[in-house]
Amino acid sequence: MFKYNEKYDCSNLPKPAFYSCPWIQHGLVFFRYKMTMCCYCGHVGGGHTLVKDDYNGQPINWEHLFKQKRTFNRLYKKGLINDNCVDCPFLEKRMAEDWEKEGEYISNLYISHWVDCNCKCTYCFEAQHPEEFQFKHKPYSVLPILKEMLQKNILRRGGSIHFGGGEPTLLPEFEDIVRLLLDYKFYDLRVHTSGIKYSPILERGIREGRLRVIVSVDAGCAETYKKIKQVPQYDKVRENARRYAAAQVSRMHALTPDMYMVGNICVGTKFIVIPGVNDTLEEVENWIKADVESGIHTTIIDLEENWFKAHEQDLPQSIFDFIHEIKKLSDKYGTHFEMYERVNNMLKENPERVPWFVPDKA
Ligand code: SF4
Ligand code: SF4
Repeated sequence: MFKYNEKYDCSNLPKPAFYSCPWIQHGLVFFRYKMTMCCYCGHVGGGHTLVKDDYNGQPINWEHLFKQKRTFNRLYKKGLINDNCVDCPFLEKRMAEDWEKEGEYISNLYISHWVDCNCKCTYCFEAQHPEEFQFKHKPYSVLPILKEMLQKNILRRGGSIHFGGGEPTLLPEFEDIVRLLLDYKFYDLRVHTSGIKYSPILERGIREGRLRVIVSVDAGCAETYKKIKQVPQYDKVRENARRYAAAQVSRMHALTPDMYMVGNICVGTKFIVIPGVNDTLEEVENWIKADVESGIHTTIIDLEENWFKAHEQDLPQSIFDFIHEIKKLSDKYGTHFEMYERVNNMLKENPERVPWFVPDKA
């Protein structure tokens, strides 16, 4: 549903301009049962802006899809905003001619249409909503769609291609999809994995500096890992993360004539802070230390979604302070620090509580 929102009305500007985002322009997401424009959902509107409901891998009418995107542009020029996009931090005001000269193609892709996993995180959406996942389904095939997009020059380099899920390495066509993208010299590929199953194609992507692997760890020891993940795989995950890290080549990889990837930050681990479960400095320091000893130099954090939703209206100062302490530990060990959407938004929306925080310019 599109509704007028004064905040986004650019009709009074001397030169035509409008709000949009890289996902409205060039994004496509494969979820179970639907296609959307984006995978973001941490803001008021809720994101996951719909392209097609009841989607199960049917052929895509590309003309229709790009017509949908043109409709967004036409309505956004008048300040008519899709409910799902309201207050999204990715909405950006630019001159109409700048948006329009980009042309019509897809470069931002998120592939997340299956739920099978070899882990059982207590915070997983699947664990929280077992009724939705009681019937396992066979994921539809994305590989032929990607091949068609490449053949028609609809899928182009320059954006980001991420995997969600479910555990990507369990997807039957996962290795073929990543191989295809690497063969076509795509970059900014990002794969989130439990790290329980080792994937040789990920190793190739890391070595080429075109792919980043994020291993979900959430713990600094086997005991906490087991409590959260409910599988006794801490040692295996650490070993696989170390193997991925060993594939990193410590140099600048030339991705395009003017774009580079720093080779030794291709592998990172992620720690979802779950207050009351893993939010001690000892746990965090052990996690970062284990990373650094394995050759991993990227520290990624997020905040557990259910805790966040329950406390969103009255966030304690202690959570802001804890995030600051993690940042300080990351600095102490010299790691590249990244905050995922929930933490980032939380800090951006409460600047008075985090004077140390410098928001991204993007
Ligand atoms: S919710 Fe945000 S990222 Fe998604 S399409 Fe809307 S503006 Fe773009
Ligand atoms: S690794 Fe991801 S998909 Fe698997 S159980 Fe954990 S949160 Fe769920």
